[in-house]
Amino acid sequence: MKHLEGLNAAQRQAVEHGIRDGDASQAGPLLVIAGAGSGKTTTLASRVAHLVVNGADPGRILLLTFSRRAASEMARRVIRMVPREARPVTWSGTFHGIGARLLRIYAQRIGLNDGFTIHDREDAADLLNLVRHDLGLSDKATRFPQKATCLTIYSHAVNSGLPLGQVLERHFPWCSQHEEALRRLFDGYVAAKQSQNVLDYDDLLLYWAEMMRSEGVAEDVRLRFDHVLVDEYQDTNPLQASILLGLKPDGQGLTAVGDDAQAIYGFRAATVRNILDLPQQFTPPAAVVTLTQSYRSTQPILAASNAVIAMARERFTKDLVSERVSAQKPRLVTVPDDIQQAVYVAERVLALREEGVALKQQAVLFRTSHHSSLVELELARRNIPFVKFGGLRFLEAAHVKDIVSVLRWASNPRDKVVAFRVLQLFPGIGPQTAARAFDRVTDGAHPFAALAIYRPPAAALAVWPAFIDLLQDLSGSAAAWPAELERVKEWFQPFFEARYPDAQVRAGDIDQLVAIGGQYRSREQFLTELALDPPEATSDEAGPPLLDEDYLILSTIHSAKGQEWTAVYVLNAVDGCIPSDMATGRSEDIEEERRLLYVAMTRAKDTLDLLVPQKFYVHQQSRNGDRHLYASRTRFIPPAMLDRFEAATWPVRRRQDAVAAGSGANVDLKARLGGMWKART
Ligand code: ATP
Ligand code: MG
Repeated sequence: MKHLEGLNAAQRQAVEHGIRDGDASQAGPLLVIAGAGSGKTTTLASRVAHLVVNGADPGRILLLTFSRRAASEMARRVIRMVPREARPVTWSGTFHGIGARLLRIYAQRIGLNDGFTIHDREDAADLLNLVRHDLGLSDKATRFPQKATCLTIYSHAVNSGLPLGQVLERHFPWCSQHEEALRRLFDGYVAAKQSQNVLDYDDLLLYWAEMMRSEGVAEDVRLRFDHVLVDEYQDTNPLQASILLGLKPDGQGLTAVGDDAQAIYGFRAATVRNILDLPQQFTPPAAVVTLTQSYRSTQPILAASNAVIAMARERFTKDLVSERVSAQKPRLVTVPDDIQQAVYVAERVLALREEGVALKQQAVLFRTSHHSSLVELELARRNIPFVKFGGLRFLEAAHVKDIVSVLRWASNPRDKVVAFRVLQLFPGIGPQTAARAFDRVTDGAHPFAALAIYRPPAAALAVWPAFIDLLQDLSGSAAAWPAELERVKEWFQPFFEARYPDAQVRAGDIDQLVAIGGQYRSREQFLTELALDPPEATSDEAGPPLLDEDYLILSTIHSAKGQEWTAVYVLNAVDGCIPSDMATGRSEDIEEERRLLYVAMTRAKDTLDLLVPQKFYVHQQSRNGDRHLYASRTRFIPPAMLDRFEAATWPVRRRQDAVAAGSGANVDLKARLGGMWKART
């Protein structure tokens, strides 16, 4: 059978666990826990296929992955393995995405308005800010935490299920003095969300978990799914674990796979305890299958990765072995600075392409989104196409957000954050005027009616009537989806040109948005998907020309999870970047950074280059102009480990050229970066 071909014995055991001769209904709980590249995701996909082949209904299978991209990739793999007449697996996605779908269905039964809209993290922080302002907590003298910090604290408390005091003490001790004020803020925030009928990301999990606790509804949700399969289980948090146990209290039909050595979401309250404790949640305990062979990386790459993770304080999964022999150790490349790091990467990428490794088979990985700026410049200079994952998302671009906000306000007139964003597009309207206008919005069939007779400031007077027309059309059914997206685009045009001096550059994004919108059935579906899992890169969606072409992958390490490439370059393998200087405090944080390096290294199949720039140019923030910052090799590769690597130094001979090439970037970096980023910020 196709889906069993090529599996090794342990993988096959996991795939077949509890399934016998056309009967998939007796499959007890299963945990597959194993290292990177051992075929966990492959096994999970094959197990889904095996379930289907043995009579499971694909429509009653729930597949949980960590990104929409991973979910659709998995669904595609399954389709290739099952008989042609089998239905597709329709319930596959992230915890948040599936949560949103289920909540729409069951909203009313748990006392939620099913017209709720979803706030992304930026909206959530903005709403917190409004509440903070209302409560008078924005007084600068008290040095109250910033809105983003408040949201992180709130989110941590929700996802970990720990009391606020404990969260502060453990993770945000410098905010402990504000515990009472934060509690008031969060109470106010929760009340604001309820009155405005908005849910933030955390609510999607929180309400889902709640739903699994309310009798009747829980039963109905449970009965929807015969099988629940979860990938990357090490990165789930206690709330997600409670959802899973709510779905499968006795573990029947539950499969989870993961690797504790790759847990990299502790900062979002994920805990490896979830995966380590899973088997004991059930009686009898879940079956545990471990896989021991890596099919991804060559033996030398695996040896170096194993050495890095061997120094971890705690670890459950065992080292893997690889049969992929190679004489090439991973390279530890010392370069004089970050500019030449970029030059090195560009040249190596091109050299490998000459040897037949497509750009798409090569990836540049980095700890933090902005680490790739110089590489992006260098690639642009050489016309090497690339796509970047992680970091700033398409939807976060201000002009894209403007348009989406109009649609969102029409969908949920009570949403204050989007209302404020839209109203402040108008000349002469600031927060106070916006508040006055917003107060006129009512519940009922014609929420915007009173705005028609509202007299805006003089500067906005001329353009106000067209806006009212637009709102009326959108809240009625004058324009159908996706035509209404075009309608908003047209309305926005004059604002767009007045607001963004680089409107021409940005226009492409708006066309892209319209193209993406056309793929969704309804405005509601579009807004939900966009808020939850926006396209990370423009080529992620639609069919831009890039899709057929070859392009290099740039990605944060977090976004590279689960993926693999023939050649991998890891930027800035230096202390301060990996581990990040944001995380050098507690030993748990350091351990998470070590696992990040392990995740990065184990993405490589054939070649792996870790770059060690000896100094950085620090631009922007420095008041004294540019200066140098000296760096040293990451502490995760101590001297005793160096024999696992080939030491290389980027040839001094090339330095003159490189500096010449890079000096433009150095002197005029801000302007050039501005040019690159303006389309996106
Ligand atoms: P990660 O921990 O990074 O998520 P993983 O354990 O999920 O990795 P996969 O992505 O499933 O690993 O597999 C890694 C690679 O090994 C893939 O290219 C896959 O096709 C290949 N592979 C998996 N199992 C086998 C096998 N039995 N024979 C040959 N190749 C395999
Ligand atoms: Mg995987």
